[in-house]
Amino acid sequence: MNARADFTRVSGRLEMAAPAKLNLGLKVVGRRADGYHLIESLFVPLDLADALSVEVAPADRPTVRLKSSVADDALGVPAKLPSGPENLAHRAAEGFLREAGLSWSVSLELLKRIPVAAGLGGGSSDAGAVLRALDALAPGALGRRRLAALGLSLGADVPFFLSPRPALVEGVGERVTPVGGLPRLCLVLANPGQGLSTARVFEAFGSRRDALTRAGSGSTLRSLSDWLAQDPGDSEGCARRLAELLENDLADAARRLCPEIGQIQARLVEMGAQAVGMSGSGATSFGVFANPSEAKSAIRNMTLRGDGWARLAGTWPAR
Ligand code: ATP
Repeated sequence: MNARADFTRVSGRLEMAAPAKLNLGLKVVGRRADGYHLIESLFVPLDLADALSVEVAPADRPTVRLKSSVADDALGVPAKLPSGPENLAHRAAEGFLREAGLSWSVSLELLKRIPVAAGLGGGSSDAGAVLRALDALAPGALGRRRLAALGLSLGADVPFFLSPRPALVEGVGERVTPVGGLPRLCLVLANPGQGLSTARVFEAFGSRRDALTRAGSGSTLRSLSDWLAQDPGDSEGCARRLAELLENDLADAARRLCPEIGQIQARLVEMGAQAVGMSGSGATSFGVFANPSEAKSAIRNMTLRGDGWARLAGTWPAR
């Protein structure tokens, strides 16, 4: 089908999984004139995912409705989430209809499981899943380029979620290069129960030149992804090498805003994590464990305070 295809009678429903992402290392390598930071990071999707149903029908005028609920096994998700245009999933559907000039009604049902404001990309993933679903229901209506531009206009992490698989992400998030052969990692995600806004963490990180990692340090990340792609074999050896490469330039700033992050990371090491890192701008830390039974025992012994939570996750898809 091409851009002139007739979508006026299309109706249908798609069920989508919207996976969380984890940053295996994150370097801040520069700042654009408009203030956006340039990053280099290895993004991996997790088996922790929101469930999204997208139903479309022809209508007199474009309309978007969103109903959201919280999954029974969710941790770190507030009882109430925005359901109007403040929700990225809603905004993604509106943007798609507008850009494609489609007069459809779009009904979204979102079952939320990804912890919110936790550095796991939940809102961006929901937006990516909406765009993938609408692109599948109206193939060719936008085309790859316009879809990617729309994704980026919704959020810097959205382009990654247009095709969620392990990838080196560069620029503000628009350059996404898939990385093959990542072994499945067994992870414990742990969060002190405090949402950290990305903007606040970048503000604390500062715009000093000396705060920035020199551009091209992504070579560390590239060597990590090259090395992973070469099949490092046993996941224990993999975790050891990962420990050397998991640096996140935002971690100091996040720990200053939320000292519990440092305590949680120390606890993960005590509990036997082979490598520890922080995802995105926090506050979720992660430990790489040798197997699920060690990871589960670590979760039982984490002793988190207040709304803190810890849960098992794996990188996805497994090979
Ligand atoms: P960011 O790095 O962009 O802050 P994050 O992964 O840390 O992302 P999200 O879970 O996307 O955090 O939530 C960030 C904010 O976005 C929250 O304050 C939330 O109210 C708002 N938001 C909008 N749409 C969504 C959505 N579909 N799911 C979760 N949060 C959403």
